[in-house]
Amino acid sequence: MKAGEYKSTCSYCGVGCGIIVSKMPDGKVTVRGDREHPVNQGKLCSKGLNLHYVVNNQDDRLLVPQMRLGKGHPLKTVEWPEAIARVATVFSSLIQKFGPDSVAFYVSGQCLTEEYYVASKLAKGFWGTNNIDTNSRLCMSSAVVGYKMQLGEDAVPASYEDIDLADCFFITGANPAWCHPILFRRIEARKNANPDVKIVVADPRRTQSCELADLHLQLKPGTDVYLNNAIARVLLENGYADWDFIRHHTNGIEEMQAEVMATSVEEAAEICGLEADDIRLAAKYIGEAKGFISMWAMGLNQSVIGVKKNLSLINLSLITGKIGKPGNGPFSLTGQPNAMGGREVGGMCNLLPAHRNLDNEKHRREVAEFWNVAEVPAKPGYSATEMIDALESGQLKAVWVICTNPMVSLPNSHKVERALKNAKFVVVQDISKNSDTVPFADVVFPAAGWLEKEGTMTNSERRITYLSQVVKAPGEALPDFEIMCRVARKMGYSGFNFKNAQEVFDEYKQLTLGTNISIGELSYNHLREKGSVQWPFRNGRSTARLFEDKKFYTPTQKANLFAVEPTNDSEKPSDDYPFILTTGRIRDQWHTMTRTGKVKRLQQHIDKPFLEIHPTDAEKLGIENDDVVTIKNRMGEVNAAAKVSETVRPGVVFLPMHWGKVLAGNHARTNNLTFDRVDPKSKEPDFKYSTVQIEKY
Ligand code: SF4
Repeated sequence: MKAGEYKSTCSYCGVGCGIIVSKMPDGKVTVRGDREHPVNQGKLCSKGLNLHYVVNNQDDRLLVPQMRLGKGHPLKTVEWPEAIARVATVFSSLIQKFGPDSVAFYVSGQCLTEEYYVASKLAKGFWGTNNIDTNSRLCMSSAVVGYKMQLGEDAVPASYEDIDLADCFFITGANPAWCHPILFRRIEARKNANPDVKIVVADPRRTQSCELADLHLQLKPGTDVYLNNAIARVLLENGYADWDFIRHHTNGIEEMQAEVMATSVEEAAEICGLEADDIRLAAKYIGEAKGFISMWAMGLNQSVIGVKKNLSLINLSLITGKIGKPGNGPFSLTGQPNAMGGREVGGMCNLLPAHRNLDNEKHRREVAEFWNVAEVPAKPGYSATEMIDALESGQLKAVWVICTNPMVSLPNSHKVERALKNAKFVVVQDISKNSDTVPFADVVFPAAGWLEKEGTMTNSERRITYLSQVVKAPGEALPDFEIMCRVARKMGYSGFNFKNAQEVFDEYKQLTLGTNISIGELSYNHLREKGSVQWPFRNGRSTARLFEDKKFYTPTQKANLFAVEPTNDSEKPSDDYPFILTTGRIRDQWHTMTRTGKVKRLQQHIDKPFLEIHPTDAEKLGIENDDVVTIKNRMGEVNAAAKVSETVRPGVVFLPMHWGKVLAGNHARTNNLTFDRVDPKSKEPDFKYSTVQIEKY
């Protein structure tokens, strides 16, 4: 690298592409892909390529702390000590008066690991509550539960290098062509070099990922378990199962087999809206492959049966023994850049650092002793949507929101609005004054953004990358960990005298010693000088692939197969609400557009919200392309331009998730319509399945 160049990683998706940042004499930056980074070898997608615009354009930045004297008063600029003291005083008094569970953190998969750690330590160790949850709850929690139940640990077994060795990809509930583009290019390269490689895509929409597929299973929303069970049945019936592996390395085959045999392939096909022969063909591709990788994202996870979908999918890798071997494994695609890092440090309401479990008394004691506190509470905290319910009901009094925009991103937006209005005290810590959540804040903390602070992130393949500080944060903005430490110290807590992010990292890594995710030997110097590593990192070595010894992290060291009952608990379409609404991302925008929305080039791809609707449905409703339509249900409504297209099935409509702003006199906020029902185990919301009616505006 030349002088003035710095290494970082992209701050958008979980692919985790390496970036070289060049700092110009005028302080502006340019970016290019890092050719030496093992994830992307120099490539970047449209979002990554335009990251410098986000850093160089600071028009939208929050520059100074602000606070209001009371509800209804305007936000006023204040000095840092005053804002810190206000938050410390209010949180202390609420804890004293109503107990520790009256306050909460709501953080983000875009926080750095060190920031997550400080928030986790402050809430669980010092406030005495497990009320810390994150927008990763909306993203990966069903996959986390699936991995833990089946493999004994929240651990992705495979690596991106396995993509180069696989013969069959089953991409289900994901559109990596748009949402994980650089990873998809690697699949594309594998397929182009080896045309016999088979790609099966299961998705109710015909997405760009289907362009590469040998087989698109355009199933009805919510029927994934039927599909996965039917594939399992064909694998078991047609000699594709690895019985030696099943007998020696798994539990539960009898129950699982009985469940999948209870429904014929024809019955499953009928329920899924597919051809039975297509299900058999998918099973054949999987069964005949030497290397089989399943990949999934929100289409499986964001569901009231998200965990069941995960279990039924991971079953396929286990009954074929296609795990822990080159080119194999069930590979959950992380949505956000550091959802995994957040879980590592226990930044969720049901986790403790280094993947320790909250319901394990020994684990709680280990953490409490390490933090030098009397105890870590056993009671799980509020998950993301439970926090909203508790704010609305008044049980939760205060929430501190960091690096996320729940007014647009959480389901049932009108409820979120009521909840934030009802809260006694809201702190918003963000980089952008355009966040839709800022108007609800009693105190606003201006935070440093990407390249304005250092730290680490962990991507989808367990890879930890160091992010350099390149530029100074604008105005008085501070790194998130520093803001939290200042409040913690003001509240009188010891243990928050970190001089920099490196000291936070060095403390956290001690907690990983002896665990399955150990990075105790890792240092910032190693990451800076030798590059990224994959955990566990022991004896100076990364771990690319887990379970090569066929020993799983369960108490029996065997993986667990599950009999997954396929019914779906989502609300069914009715005469009043006859359409199933599914939601998702578009190629060039990220989440609620507070960053990508300010890059003109990224608007050129798609510049306004749209509703994909099948031509048959559009004709019945008298809707033509580009007509503005109103989509309604009992929670709210949204206006969007119709995009009449066969990419969706009849009876299914699709809205992108990003917009929170107004179109045609009404909100375009998709989550006005999404139900806040959640999976009972993962607490992940049912974003992919709400029922709606549609009319011309
Ligand atoms: Fe960033 Fe993801 Fe694009 Fe890579 S694929 S450049 S990590 S948004």
